[in-house]
Amino acid sequence: MKKQFAVIGLGGFGEAVAVELMRLGHEVLGVDSDPDKANHLADKLTQTVIANATDEDALAELDLHRFDAVLVAIGAHIEASILCTMMVKSQEAKEVWVKAITPTHHKIVEKLGADRVLHPEYEMGLRVAQSLAHPNMLDY
Ligand code: ATP
Repeated sequence: MKKQFAVIGLGGFGEAVAVELMRLGHEVLGVDSDPDKANHLADKLTQTVIANATDEDALAELDLHRFDAVLVAIGAHIEASILCTMMVKSQEAKEVWVKAITPTHHKIVEKLGADRVLHPEYEMGLRVAQSLAHPNMLDY
């Protein structure tokens, strides 16, 4: 069944998730404050919006409660990630996943109610180690 997702932050990680969700047949709204990032994906996602995800009014216009899940993929700007997560939660989004880059960042967004906290580089590192150690096992 077709689902609706919102990806906030279209860096390398957010872009990969958003484009793969489209490939899997879902609808994806991409949001980034950098016009270059949003414009670059304009033809590849269902909709892209240039917006500062720490701006309460801008975020409110996105009606995030209508999505099956919202991914906050702002990493390096920890303060922006925390503020955004807080506001996404207050919009009562059904499922909120957040990329974190430090243990403190992880703890804060978890406390704010993130349903899942991701550490893409660490998690990928574990998978690569497993693939190197067991090259014949299927990776998907
Ligand atoms: P990645 O590791 O995914 O490539 P990055 O480390 O290059 O990410 P981040 O700082 O994690 O960059 O930001 C990811 C994306 O989030 C960038 O495209 C950036 O423009 C966007 N971004 C940062 N702050 C905001 C914000 N306040 N509102 C919307 N988008 C933002």
